[in-house]
Amino acid sequence: MSDLTWQFIIKFIIVGDAGVGKSSILIRFTDSRFLANPDPTLGVEFGSKLVHLADEDKTIKVQIWDTAGAEQFRSITRSYYRGAAGALLVYDATSRTSFNNAKSWLQDVREHADPNLTCILVANKLDLLQEGEEGDRRRAVTKEEAAAWANEEGLLFLEGSAKTGENIEEAFESAVRDILDKIKRGV
Ligand code: GDP
Repeated sequence: MSDLTWQFIIKFIIVGDAGVGKSSILIRFTDSRFLANPDPTLGVEFGSKLVHLADEDKTIKVQIWDTAGAEQFRSITRSYYRGAAGALLVYDATSRTSFNNAKSWLQDVREHADPNLTCILVANKLDLLQEGEEGDRRRAVTKEEAAAWANEEGLLFLEGSAKTGENIEEAFESAVRDILDKIKRGV
């Protein structure tokens, strides 16, 4: 598909604790790859991909900004949030701390980003929970608890894996659909 065919461009940001898999989600989505040992000092900063919605007859250029390690210092600046229509709020499904911290990441987003921003909560590393009994023991947050919190806060919610690719495209696609819907409704 030529780069000239898109009709909309949508900026996404990815927030969440260091190590939850933000760069991995970006690489999986834009490049269909997974790196088991990414260099933590080489945070990916930016990626883009065309998303075609056949039923809507629309092609959207999704632009994604990653924190490139800045989250470790809580130094994410306003310019990072500026112009974003969508946010992926990521936690690691095996880390309770990262889920608890998702609450303060959401506060940060609400403070700095557009109030109409579409936010999707993504429980990453689902693959680690799919290894039988041992996987069950690794789960730090039940799907019900996360879904209930997302619902309370008006967030979309999916569990997925940058490693296997499960639900990564779906996460972006459902957020894009929500954003297009807001545009149609003039919100
Ligand atoms: P970031 O700091 O949030 O950008 O996290 P990274 O993308 O650098 O990932 C941190 C670590 O988690 C790396 O070792 C990744 O390979 C690993 N990782 C990321 N996503 C997944 C996943 O879906 N499943 C598994 N098993 N490991 C993952």
